[in-house]
Amino acid sequence: MDTRIGFGYDSHAFKAGVPLRIGGLSLEHPEGLAGHSDGDVLLHALTDALLGSVAAGDIGSFFPPSDPRWKGADSGVFLKLALEELEHAGYRLVNADITLILAAPKIGPVNGEMRARVADLLGAEMEQVSIKAKTPEGLNLDHVAQCHAVVLVERVQEDDELKSMSAVIETQKQLEDVVDDLLASVHGVPKKRPVSPLFDTDDIT
Ligand code: MG
Repeated sequence: MDTRIGFGYDSHAFKAGVPLRIGGLSLEHPEGLAGHSDGDVLLHALTDALLGSVAAGDIGSFFPPSDPRWKGADSGVFLKLALEELEHAGYRLVNADITLILAAPKIGPVNGEMRARVADLLGAEMEQVSIKAKTPEGLNLDHVAQCHAVVLVERVQEDDELKSMSAVIETQKQLEDVVDDLLASVHGVPKKRPVSPLFDTDDIT
């Protein structure tokens, strides 16, 4: 299996009067996360992990904070681009393991909903996404939210095989040979080739 890993990290300070968005969810809390976009610290770390897994740069190189287009942007947009880069490189997600570090709010009560939301944004199953939350004990960072994300990705093998197959298929005969080979390898069907008559007997008068 051809696999790669990616790691992403992000942090945002809490700020009064800003809606709190984490993991694509709006959470009830007196403060939100300050940022040029919606400040979704989890989606930013996950985006960087995906981009990093295929060495495609980082979130800042695609969406510079100086660009007014991304002011208040839904961070799902950033994740979507990272998934496109992953697909373009010929890889797909195996799983993501994410750790949030924040004093409040408690993530436990919304953990399931958050995993489902992140899985949905990734086009993945909930079982492929893990979200853990810890408090910043001893760090004196109660007004900061941090997130670490690790992803494992694997090469999409089918694409490679189909590409190499299509490269050699130039005639109908070659296509039939490829189909026969596939049937023989998958179902154990012995190769059969109809014997063409040397001449059309109907033409004999
Ligand atoms: Mg960020």
